[in-house]
Amino acid sequence: MIEFKKVTKYYGNHKALNNINLHVKQGEFISMVGMSGAGKSTMLKLLVGEEQLDDGSILIDDIDMTKIRKSDLPYLRRKIGVVFQDIKLLPKRTAFENVAFAMEVSGHTKEQINKDVPRILELVGLTHKTHNFPHEMSGGEKQRVAIARSLAHRPVLLLADEPTGNLDEINAAEVIDLLLKINELGTTVLLATHAADLVNKIKKRVITIEGGQITMEQEKGKYKL
Ligand code: ADP
Repeated sequence: MIEFKKVTKYYGNHKALNNINLHVKQGEFISMVGMSGAGKSTMLKLLVGEEQLDDGSILIDDIDMTKIRKSDLPYLRRKIGVVFQDIKLLPKRTAFENVAFAMEVSGHTKEQINKDVPRILELVGLTHKTHNFPHEMSGGEKQRVAIARSLAHRPVLLLADEPTGNLDEINAAEVIDLLLKINELGTTVLLATHAADLVNKIKKRVITIEGGQITMEQEKGKYKL
């Protein structure tokens, strides 16, 4: 599904990624671990076309990221959902409206929205918060709304960049459980994190990134920093 081939990326003179090779199969759950500055976010940004690589290639299904035109990016982004550490919900909209807004933007009809939003909120375990505003939710609940929003256009790939970074242990574990559930339902998940304890509980493939290089790969990973 995703193929990084000898990918190198510079920011100015700084080599952020150095000869990255990675093959991700459809349906996999991969944790990308490494300290801050290792290059995890850069890998995710290359996948959504937010940054361009300098050498090598990235294939996502049939799309060659070295050849993609700006006008094709919306097509690519329809395949991908993204979740960040920094949860940016619309503060004056309810959970329902936050997810509905994402669906409106991606061209869904009112009927589809009214049918799908309750289902997505149920999936993330937030039916009881449907009509609550972000300030009425915990950090973990807000992140689950953000995950619901990222699923609104039914992506085949979910990229999660430090999604538990601002959460306490219990909320972080809930978010990870939700990512695992989404993965079980068929979505490929790439999780970037430095939270070793969480990754060790996931027991899925772990890739360690250090100084822009993959330095370790484990099938059912244990990870220590
Ligand atoms: P991680 O997600 O693992 O914390 P990043 O991919 O954000 O790492 O960063 C990798 C390296 O690239 C770091 O040294 C970081 O300082 C640098 N970097 C990231 N983004 C930029 C940018 N826009 N301009 C310059 N340097 C950057």
